[in-house]
Amino acid sequence: MSNCFRKAFCFIALFFAVHTLCAHQVLIHVFSLKTVHSATVNFSRGAYSLWAEGAEVAHFAQGETVKILMEGTKMRVSFQGTSKLLSHFKFVGEEYLNNFKVGVAGELRTYEDNLECKVEGKSFVLLNRVELERYIAGVVESEAGLRAAPEYFKLQAILCRTYALRNLDRHAVDGYNLCDNVHCQAYYSKSYKIPAILKATVATNGLVITDDKFDLINATFHSNCGGETCNSEDVWLTPLPYLRAVKDTFCIKSKNARWKKVMTQQQWAKYLSNLGVDKSLDSVVNEEVVYYSPANRQFSFYFPGKSVKTTQMRNDLKLKSAYFKVECRNDSVYLQGKGYGHGVGLCQEGAIQMAKQGYAYNQIIRYYFTGVFLVNLNALEFFKEE
Ligand SMILES: [Zn+2]
Ligand SMILES: [Zn+2]
Repeated sequence: MSNCFRKAFCFIALFFAVHTLCAHQVLIHVFSLKTVHSATVNFSRGAYSLWAEGAEVAHFAQGETVKILMEGTKMRVSFQGTSKLLSHFKFVGEEYLNNFKVGVAGELRTYEDNLECKVEGKSFVLLNRVELERYIAGVVESEAGLRAAPEYFKLQAILCRTYALRNLDRHAVDGYNLCDNVHCQAYYSKSYKIPAILKATVATNGLVITDDKFDLINATFHSNCGGETCNSEDVWLTPLPYLRAVKDTFCIKSKNARWKKVMTQQQWAKYLSNLGVDKSLDSVVNEEVVYYSPANRQFSFYFPGKSVKTTQMRNDLKLKSAYFKVECRNDSVYLQGKGYGHGVGLCQEGAIQMAKQGYAYNQIIRYYFTGVFLVNLNALEFFKEE
């Protein structure tokens, strides 16, 4: 496809973005970190029906409550003065807007659309079948800070949507699309606290980020890059053309811009010695092992006899980032670091600052992701079918 056509295509796709509706539904495992033996479901908005084995079993008016309790190898579902033993069932909302509250072990959450319950071993799983855009708003509220600028919520919605659609198969073997914890994307409730989040999701309805082949990108982000982001291959193995290192002056005064860790010289020397650094135990005052002050982000430190990847040191020592220098004062070794997270892709604190300063979401996305396109999902599917 010529560049000219591609630009025209993207413009058209963007132009129609707010006018198109995406009817995609996703299936999300909620309360995925809990082993669920009992749950309470309250239909807080709209009427619901209960379906099992292809037939409607019961009908609920708004406000009714159902209790679910594991009993042997099935679930005892109690409602309206009666109960049924089931191994798989669904609560299906009957109106345009349907909400339910689900309580598990003292934690109460509100979700939209439908709920499926399925026995798995000695417990059961709760699956929320929800319209994609409603899910995205819930994720943005769970993942993003609550006090960001509206433009930031827009780009976060685009990132979460791109991630979700690229990873729909992530839990295929488990029988659903995505889980609700940080393994996939945090999704702790429907969006309800910040009206701006819902508005931002609607304003960017269906927009996703693609590379120049119109494949969805790995829209990775981190808390703070410390002043420069990384190439993907510096942290992971695969070089990706849109995950290039960029200088970032926007995040350097933010909350997670700097960190410090103090160790004794003995602890530091022992750590290096275990890694195979020569004589580190008996040369703790050797400048080569206790002073390492590079001007820029380094991916390996070159100690006597051994180079050590900074990403490995980050993991081993539980550091906030792999971007740091080493200094010795008195008996202590100071690791002074910049940023928080892996440093690849979008820097959240930098993006929040850019949004505050008036940059538009598409400018911010194109700043952190090199050579990408913003495309409407419906247009993308049409194009992919061609
Ligand atoms: Zn997951
Ligand atoms: Zn940054």
